[in-house]
Amino acid sequence: MLLFDVFVLGLIVGSFLNVCIYRIPKGDSIVYPHSHCTSCKSKIKWYDMIPVISYIILRGRCRNCGGRISIRYPIIELATGVVFAALFLKYGLTLEFVKFAVLASFVIVIGMIDYYTTDVYTVTILPGIAAGIFFIIAGYFKGGDLLTFIYGALISYGLIAAIILMTKGMGWGDAEICLMCSLFLGLKLSIVMLFIAFVSGGILGTLLVLFKKSSLKSAISFGPFISGAAIFASVFGRNFMDWYIASLF
Ligand SMILES: [Zn+2]
Repeated sequence: MLLFDVFVLGLIVGSFLNVCIYRIPKGDSIVYPHSHCTSCKSKIKWYDMIPVISYIILRGRCRNCGGRISIRYPIIELATGVVFAALFLKYGLTLEFVKFAVLASFVIVIGMIDYYTTDVYTVTILPGIAAGIFFIIAGYFKGGDLLTFIYGALISYGLIAAIILMTKGMGWGDAEICLMCSLFLGLKLSIVMLFIAFVSGGILGTLLVLFKKSSLKSAISFGPFISGAAIFASVFGRNFMDWYIASLF
C-alpha cells in the first residue's frame, strides 16, 4: 500500500512540476493565480485537475472550449510517479529517498524547460543548490561523508567547464545543472551521471545527424540528458557501477 501512496504522491508532485515548467519561462508566479486553460483562459475546476485521470476522462481536451491539452501533462505526472516509486523501492522511507525525490523534481523541471527553451533558469538552479547543501548537512549529522559531495561537484563542474572553454560545445547552464546534481549525488554517482549523459547525448546526437534531423553545428540541449542521467544515477547508480567494473575485469 505504501508503494502505491508514494506513486500517487509522485503524480501530485508531477502535476505541480507541470505548473513550474509552464510558468517559470514566462516569469509567472508558480503559486498564483489558479490554473487556467491555455486556450480559453477559463479557470480549471478542482475535479478536472486530478493527475492523469482527468486527462483521460476529458480525452485531452478542455471541458469549457474543447481546446487540446498537451500530452506532456499526464506524461510528466506519470514519469514523476514512476521515479518516486522506483526510489522508494530502492531506498525505502529514508532521508536518501526524500533527497533523491527532491533532486528528481528539480531536474524534471530544469530538463523540460531546457528542452523547450534551451535556457537554464537561475530561479530553478539556486533553490536546487540550496536544497543540495541542506541534504549534505542533514546527511553529515547522520554520520555521512562531506568530501564526496565536494569532490563530485568540483569534478562535474570542472569537466563541463573544461569542455566549454576548449570546444564551446556546451553552455554554462549545463555546468550549473551538473554542479547542482553532484551536490545530491556525491562523487561515485556523479561519475555515473556524467558517463550516462555523455553516452546517451552522444548516441542521440549522432542519430540526429545521421537522419539529417540536425546538422553537426546545430546544438541540441544537453540539459535533458544530464537530468535523465541524474535520475538514472540516483536509482541505478550503485548497481551500474558494480556491473560496469565487474564487466571490465
Ligand atoms: Zn479552454
